Amino acid sequence: MVRTITIASGKGGTGKTTIAANLAIALADIGIKVCVLDADIEMANLELILGMENKRITLLDVLADRADIKDAIYIGPKSVLVIPSGISLEKLRNVDPEKLKDAIKKIIDVAEIFIIDAPAGIGKDTLIAISSARECLLVVNPDISSLSDALKTKIIAQRLGSEIIGAVLNRVEETTGKLTAQEVSTILEVPVMGVVPEDKNVRRAGIYGEPLILRYPNSPASVAIKKLARKMAGLPVEEEREKRSVISKLLGGLLRK
Ligand code: ADP
Ligand code: MG
Repeated sequence: MVRTITIASGKGGTGKTTIAANLAIALADIGIKVCVLDADIEMANLELILGMENKRITLLDVLADRADIKDAIYIGPKSVLVIPSGISLEKLRNVDPEKLKDAIKKIIDVAEIFIIDAPAGIGKDTLIAISSARECLLVVNPDISSLSDALKTKIIAQRLGSEIIGAVLNRVEETTGKLTAQEVSTILEVPVMGVVPEDKNVRRAGIYGEPLILRYPNSPASVAIKKLARKMAGLPVEEEREKRSVISKLLGGLLRK
């Protein structure tokens, strides 16, 4: 059965589109057939991250009954199927987001995993994006406002009948005072499926119009997203050994006979 997963967060700018695009490629690299759809119809940018802008027919045409969804599917990097939303303000007229669910149903069998990149907020477009998939993956930054928005999104998604498969903690820096994966997991009451570090290569790849995972495959965020993909595919993941603090190392050394 096809897995449908919406990537949502509540707060804007947490990294939903970055995760959706690169996760799609990482899953395809494992050998899974993936389709990724940009449901952020007002602020679409998935196509920019994937280097696939200016497509003639996009989701906006589909939602305005100007085209069939089959004609808005494009082959992207690593053969990922991409349904761009289009960034034309002109085309936003007559768009009816309610048509999304039925449009997706028509092409659901093109992939094994169908990823939907949701807009920010908890408005109508977000609710439609969430209810168009069975599963929901939350993207959270390690700060309270992001966490509180993710919590709201989680509750709403559950009310819509969505299964929250977990959270991705994105933009993690090695500074004190930030929320840890453990804290996020405890507060959201969902597993943290991946921890993606703050990585300057994310922005750099964007400048080149190429997905991070292809331009900088060994950068810290790429490595973390590949690990997330393996976890989502149910493949074994080599867990990092817990980093020991200087104090615990020192104590360990003192106590060793
Ligand atoms: P959203 O889709 O949630 O609005 P985006 O994926 O568009 O978020 O990311 C918002 C901004 O954050 C972009 O400028 C992107 O380059 C940056 N960003 C996302 N993830 C990371 C990361 N792990 N490290 C550094 N910058 C990141
Ligand atoms: Mg986005």
